Amino acid sequence: MESIDTLKQFYDLMFETKDARSRIVRSRLDGRSASGEDVEILSAALAQLRAIPGTGGRHRLGLRGGRSIDLDLGYEIGELEKDLFFLSHTEDDFNRRMEKIHPGFADHIEEGSRFLAGRSFSAFITDRDGTVNNYCGRYLSSIQSAYNGVFLSRFASESVEHAVLLTSAPLADQGLIDISVMPPGVYIYAGSKGRELLREDGGVSRFPIEPEKQRLLGRLNGRLKGLLTSPEYEAFGLIGSGLQFKFGQTTVARQDMNGTIPGEESEDFLHTVQDLVSELDPEGRVFRIEDTGKDIEIILTVESSEREGEVKDFDKGDGVTFLSETLGLELERGPNLICGDTRSDLPMVEASLSRTGETWAIFVTRDEDLQQEVRDLCPNALVLPEPDMLVSLLNLQAVQEAV
Ligand SMILES: [Mg+2]
Repeated sequence: MESIDTLKQFYDLMFETKDARSRIVRSRLDGRSASGEDVEILSAALAQLRAIPGTGGRHRLGLRGGRSIDLDLGYEIGELEKDLFFLSHTEDDFNRRMEKIHPGFADHIEEGSRFLAGRSFSAFITDRDGTVNNYCGRYLSSIQSAYNGVFLSRFASESVEHAVLLTSAPLADQGLIDISVMPPGVYIYAGSKGRELLREDGGVSRFPIEPEKQRLLGRLNGRLKGLLTSPEYEAFGLIGSGLQFKFGQTTVARQDMNGTIPGEESEDFLHTVQDLVSELDPEGRVFRIEDTGKDIEIILTVESSEREGEVKDFDKGDGVTFLSETLGLELERGPNLICGDTRSDLPMVEASLSRTGETWAIFVTRDEDLQQEVRDLCPNALVLPEPDMLVSLLNLQAVQEAV
C-alpha cells in the first residue's frame, strides 16, 4: 500500500475517490451494481487515510519546505466507511446503520415522511454543506459520497421537476461541480450564492458584473494566488475554505474549524490581505472585506435593484431570483421545497414564499433560535438534526414515488 505523506497526495487520493464514486453512482442509478475495481479504489483509499500517522484524531501531512499540517479527517474517513457499507449491504441494512450513527434517525424519518406525505415538487432548491452534505473541515476534500449521490439523484429524478443545488462556494475551478458525483443534468448547480449557474443543458449563466469591477477582482485574485505560492503563506490555501475564486467574491482562509494555524500567523495574514486590497482599491469603492475569523471574504459591491445608487450584499435569495428568471423555473407555480442549515439560507425560503404559499422548508440545525425563525417564516417547516437524515428521507420519498 502506497503511503500518503503530503497534503498534495491526500488531495490526489480524494479526487480518485471522486471519479470512482461518480461511476458507482451512475451504476447504481442504472440498476447495476458497482464495479469491483471502483469499490477497491474506495477501500484502498480508506486504508491509506487510516494509515496516515498522527495523534488525537489528527493526521499529519507534509507541506513543501519541510513544514507539516495536522488535519482532522473525520469527514473523509467517515464517508468512505459509510460508502463501503452501502455498497456491501442492502439499503434496509444501511438505514439500520444510520440509526446507530445518528440516534433518533428512524423517528425523524417517520416524522419527515408524514411532513412530505408523498408530495412531489415543482422546484427543489437546497444548500449543500451542512444541509444535504455532512460538514467537512476542508472544502476541496468534501467529495460527495456515493450513497449521498444516489439518494439525492433519485429524489431529483422521481419527485421534482427542477432540482437545484445552491451554495456560496464557486461553481467551477475547484468548485461545486468538482466535488459532486451525480450524473450531469440531474441537478442544476448554482455557485457563488446563485450568481453562476450550470444549467441542465450544460451551459453556464452568470449574473452580470460591471467589467471594471471584474477586472479589478481578476487582479486581486492573481495577486492572492501568487501570495499563496510562497512557502510562508502556502498553508492558507490548504486549510479550511482555502482560496476560492467565486463569481463576484473571493474567499481565502486564515484559519479552520480546528485552529490549525497559530493565532499570530493568522492575524499577520489578515493584515497582508487587507494591505493588498487597499493597494488595489485605495478608495474602497469596489471591494468590501468581511472577516469571519476563519475566512477573509473579499466581496464586490453590487448596486441595489430596489434602491438606486445603494449598495447591497448579494444573498442567496437574489440567487434564487436570478436562477428562477434565467431558467424559467416558474417558482410561483409551486409546490417548492427549500432546504438549508444556516441563516444565510433563509432568503431562499423568503424568495419562494414571496411567489407562492406552496412553499415547504426543511432545515438541518440544532440551533433552537434558527428553528424558531424557520417556523415563524414558513408555516410548512420541518427541522432535522443531521444531513444524513435529510438525504435518507428524500431517498425514501423517491423510492416510494417510483413504486
Ligand atoms: Mg450550509
